[in-house]
Amino acid sequence: MPFHLSCSNIRTFAVRLKGNIQTMNKIANVAIVGGTHGNEFSGIYLLDKWQKQPQLLQRKGLTIETLFANPKSHQENKRYIDSDLNRQFKLDSLADESLTNYEQSRAKVINAQLGPKGNARTDFIIDLHNTTSNMGPSLILMKSDDFNKKMGAYVLAKMPNAVVVYEDQIPMLEQAFLASVAEQGVIVEIGPQPQSVIRHDIMEWMETMTHTILDFVELYNTDTLPELAPTYEAYSLVESIYLPQSDEGERLGMVHKYVQDSDFKPIKKGDPIFSLFDGGEICYEGDYEAYPHFINEAAYYDSNMAMSFAKKITVSIK
Ligand SMILES: [Zn+2]
Repeated sequence: MPFHLSCSNIRTFAVRLKGNIQTMNKIANVAIVGGTHGNEFSGIYLLDKWQKQPQLLQRKGLTIETLFANPKSHQENKRYIDSDLNRQFKLDSLADESLTNYEQSRAKVINAQLGPKGNARTDFIIDLHNTTSNMGPSLILMKSDDFNKKMGAYVLAKMPNAVVVYEDQIPMLEQAFLASVAEQGVIVEIGPQPQSVIRHDIMEWMETMTHTILDFVELYNTDTLPELAPTYEAYSLVESIYLPQSDEGERLGMVHKYVQDSDFKPIKKGDPIFSLFDGGEICYEGDYEAYPHFINEAAYYDSNMAMSFAKKITVSIK
C-alpha cells in the first residue's frame, strides 16, 4: 500500500478505491462544540453534562475535547452579541484583522484553538445546534466523500427518524461555518425547540446523534463498520426562500399553514407557501419537487428568510 507522507504522516494512509488512489486521514482529534448560538440550549447543557462525566465521550483511539463557542451570547440569552458566529469562518474573514466585533474576534480565537483552518490540528468537529423548525434530528454534512456518505448511512441505520442534509455545494474551505475549521466537520441540527428553551426529546436526540457519530468515527477508523445500506435517501440544499416583501422592505405575508411544521415534506408546483396579510396567497412556481426545511426558523427573521429548499437525492455507498 503506498504511503502518503505529510507533516502528520502516521495518521495519514492511502486506500485503493475503484482503481483510484485516494488519501484519507484517520480521525484522531475530535472537538464537540456547543453554544455557537447562545440561545440554542441543548448543546450547552450537554457540554456541561459531558464536562462533568467525560467518560461518556470516550472512544478508542480518539482524543475528544469540548468547546463552548459563544458563552457571552449565552449569558445574554441571545443568538449572538454582534454578528452570527457561525458565519465568521471563511478564510478571508479569519485573516482580516479589521474584523474585530465580538463574534469576529471569537472566530479568530476558536480558529487558533481548533485550527487553523486549512491545516487544523483538530481532525473532526461536531457542532451542536437547535432549530425552532420541525426538522427532527438532522445531520448536516458539508462533504460527500466516503467518510461523510458512510456517516449518513450509519446514523440513519441507528436513528431511523434522522434526516441527512448535504450542504456540500461549495468546498469545505470556502464554507463560513465553525465546523469547517477542521478537514471534517458536521452540524447536528435538532428541532423543534424554541430559542432559550430546553426540551427533553430534543436533548435526547442530540445526545443520541452525537454518540452515534462518535461510534461511527471509531468504527470507521478501525475499518470495522457493520454492513451499511448500499443506498439511502437524503436531501441536498438548493436555495433559500424569503418572506414576501414590498419594494420598501415591508413584510407582506407569512409562511402558509400548509407548509408550517412540514419540514422535509415535498412541495410541488402550485402548492401554497405564503399567506399574504391582504388575504392572498403565493404558490410555489419552481420546476423541481422541493423539500422545505428550516421552515419559519426564528433566527432567520433578521434576514427575512422563510425556509430552505432541498432536492431529494439518493446517496450510493461504494
Ligand atoms: Zn444554531
